Amino acid sequence: MPRGLGTTYKARNQPAGCYEHSYASREDEPAASRIGALSTSATSIEWTDATWTPLTGCTKISPGCQHCYAERMAKRLQAMGNPNYANGFKLTLHEHMLDVPLRWRKPRSVFVNSMSDLFHKDVPEEYVQRVFDVMRRAS
Ligand code: SF4
Repeated sequence: MPRGLGTTYKARNQPAGCYEHSYASREDEPAASRIGALSTSATSIEWTDATWTPLTGCTKISPGCQHCYAERMAKRLQAMGNPNYANGFKLTLHEHMLDVPLRWRKPRSVFVNSMSDLFHKDVPEEYVQRVFDVMRRAS
């Protein structure tokens, strides 16, 4: 089932779940410094230039979520006091992040929502539309 939005990062022997955030094992997980988890940032991930995280957190729904890097990173960032991760891995919308791509001056390839699932059942459709509207306006 395709879940999430953005670039896929398919792991070996990937069980059901979302390809964006889970890995077959911890060894498949990108190094924390490569994830660009601070909501919006330049990144050293080779297949993207930046990440944009208008929401964080998710719900584990299948065995494919067992090695979810987003959960691990969210807990790490919460412990570090990052305000966007005050709720840890609980689904949280960050309205203050919505317009960030509209302030970028140079084009870039963006990993949208690297720390959550935009199509999580508890994300209001109106919010999903706002995210897509920003993508459209930033294109
Ligand atoms: S918990 Fe959510 S973000 Fe993590 S692998 Fe599962 S569906 Fe993806």
